[in-house]
Amino acid sequence: MWTGDRIPPRYRMDALRPSRASPSSERGELPAAVVLPKSTAEVSAAVRVAGRLRRPVVAWGGGTGLMGGARPTSDSIVLDLRGMRRVRTVDRASCTATAEAGIVLEDLDRAMRRHGMLLGHDPWSRPRATLGGAIATNGLGYSGYLRGSMGDQVLGLEAVLADGTVLRARAVPRSTTGLDLKRLFVGTEGTLGIVTAATVRGFPVPEREELHAFHLPTFARGLAALCRMYDEGLAPLVMDFQEEFEVPGGPWPIERGPPTVYLGFSGPREVVAASWRVARRTLRGAGARARPDREAREFWRTRHDIIYRMDEVAPGVTGADLFLKDVVFDYVHVALPRSRVLEFRRGALRILRGYGVFPSGFGVWTQPELVALEMMRPIRGDRARAKAEVGAAIDEVLRRAQDLGGSMEYVHGVGVKLVHLMGRELGAGLDVFRRVKRGLDPGGRLNPGKLGL
Ligand SMILES: Cc1cc2nc3c(=O)[nH]c(=O)nc-3n(C[C@H](O)[C@H](O)[C@H](O)COP(=O)(O)OP(=O)(O)OC[C@H]3O[C@@H](n4cnc5c(N)ncnc54)[C@H](O)[C@@H]3O)c2cc1C
Repeated sequence: MWTGDRIPPRYRMDALRPSRASPSSERGELPAAVVLPKSTAEVSAAVRVAGRLRRPVVAWGGGTGLMGGARPTSDSIVLDLRGMRRVRTVDRASCTATAEAGIVLEDLDRAMRRHGMLLGHDPWSRPRATLGGAIATNGLGYSGYLRGSMGDQVLGLEAVLADGTVLRARAVPRSTTGLDLKRLFVGTEGTLGIVTAATVRGFPVPEREELHAFHLPTFARGLAALCRMYDEGLAPLVMDFQEEFEVPGGPWPIERGPPTVYLGFSGPREVVAASWRVARRTLRGAGARARPDREAREFWRTRHDIIYRMDEVAPGVTGADLFLKDVVFDYVHVALPRSRVLEFRRGALRILRGYGVFPSGFGVWTQPELVALEMMRPIRGDRARAKAEVGAAIDEVLRRAQDLGGSMEYVHGVGVKLVHLMGRELGAGLDVFRRVKRGLDPGGRLNPGKLGL
């Protein structure tokens, strides 16, 4: 256990860094203590002690969460789960693996591959994020359409409740025995319990994975072609369709060019070949032009590199903090009815420009309804003003998504960053959520303040 000056500064904040538009403190707060449990029994004991001391408990995985979900307050006890990283069992015949929550996703994937399976959850942050963190945020990875979100892949789970009770939900593909208890811990950011282990579905390593890149003449034509493909029953392994916009004074050069889609299929050779025949026919109809294969290979090979920018280059300072020091850089990830994506695009770009914020990228990821919008605003002296402008623009964009029948966030959770919009998002559901929280954690000890709880 670390207390006082021995607590490393990295525990002040997760990946909700100073370059983002959040009004939360740029320095974060050092917790009162950091505990590194080695077993479920130790997690249970730590939670009981925290209860007696009336201290908040914040679960910490890889610290890669983008919404401040793992940010501690100065009175809290952080439980860093990374000491719990054993693979308990791999069952090749059932295509499952059971591991402790603190295992890094890439290490779990590696262990499963030794048995001819892979982990279906493959986020950009795979080399640093943990199984428990991915479950607690219900993350989505590159192959999320084909293999589901992290939560979809959880068959069974073990969690410690606020009173120290250890709850075990059976690892079965389906059960109709009342409330699906494991779902209580999926996407709830450590507010209802601490996940200590989980059994996940494995996927046999496919015979073939084939990726290609294409330029499309316009975003609208590309989107329509992709929608047709999904309607025809194609299930891509990867789909990343993005257009970029020039940002004057940005920290890296972005060239306005035609929208690009990276598309991939996996499975037996014959299935991949047939999928590509249908996909190519549809893309040709939309005026797509194939890019050299090395572009798709490079995209796939480097897909996790960005997470290394979150590594510390000095105590409490990441490479991204230095790289983005003169700019506010932020993003939204909204889910929309497919029919409203283009309307959202028009409105969101207009809103950003109205606030003097530059859109840098707009796209859909894994499926046509899941939209990402990236933006920047050079600071040019007045940091607080730049952040306030980007923050106000984001809020208006998110409200717009909600008004169009969408959800303000489909991948990174709420943390502290989106708390103020939770009432609008859930309506009466927020009160139901709070009642569940009071029932399971009457003292409000588990990660208070997150998710609007
Ligand atoms: C560059 C970059 C790219 C990213 N790309 C993706 C992406 O492609 N897809 C995606 O889904 N996410 C992505 N993320 C976000 C982040 O990696 C995910 O949210 C990830 O699932 C968080 O895992 P973690 O172990 O780092 O959790 P942390 O950041 O440590 O915690 C996240 C939340 O989960 C809670 N928590 C952690 N462990 C437990 C536990 N054992 N039990 C209960 N609660 C727990 C924490 O209290 C916190 O609320 C990205 C982040 C970065 C910085």
